[in-house]
Amino acid sequence: MLIIGPPGSGKGTQAERISERLGVVAISTGDIFRANVKGETPLGLEAKKYIDNGDFVPDSVTNKMVRDRLREADVEHGFLLDGYPRTTAQVDELDDILAEADAKLDVVVQLTADDEELVARLLGRALETGRSDDNEGVIRHRLDLYHEQTEAVVARYAERGILSRVDGIGGIDEVTERVMGAIKEAQGA
Ligand code: ADP
Repeated sequence: MLIIGPPGSGKGTQAERISERLGVVAISTGDIFRANVKGETPLGLEAKKYIDNGDFVPDSVTNKMVRDRLREADVEHGFLLDGYPRTTAQVDELDDILAEADAKLDVVVQLTADDEELVARLLGRALETGRSDDNEGVIRHRLDLYHEQTEAVVARYAERGILSRVDGIGGIDEVTERVMGAIKEAQGA
């Protein structure tokens, strides 16, 4: 499955909780990039400038990273991708990867929240975690990219009839229950 949402929607938090409940591995492209930046790997050095500016890492780089990650053995029983795909070119790539593996997506969950709530949450998080991309200018740019590019991704999955929209405003447990409910509903449908 996929979890898609704007920056600050809590998708990373929910992805971890949901993956535990479902017993599948959670794969966050943002976390993989940050680990590479921290480890100063060639991928991290390449990605850092984009991340710090709130830009997307180029599709060619991101697609290759995801393709490699999805070859690992732990995805065999399913996976939850958090933060990918974010562009329609990434949707095409994921379609290819899944077709080659004879696999298909069960459900795509979109977490929703309005922009002002998201900015407030991210500015709050900036005080706690000091993520290099959590300052107001960069936050607004990440939100703009979400609207410009990732909403088209969401629309693609809506057309395919596998999208579930979940309200991301509320307590962490409450939102987890909503996501679990959406997954169960999608599986029953
Ligand atoms: P957020 O959703 O708050 O922006 P993430 O941790 O998901 O946080 O992503 C952080 C950054 O990592 C993004 O701003 C972008 O630079 C990079 N990134 C993550 N996933 C992708 C992706 N699928 N395509 C391109 N860049 C990505």
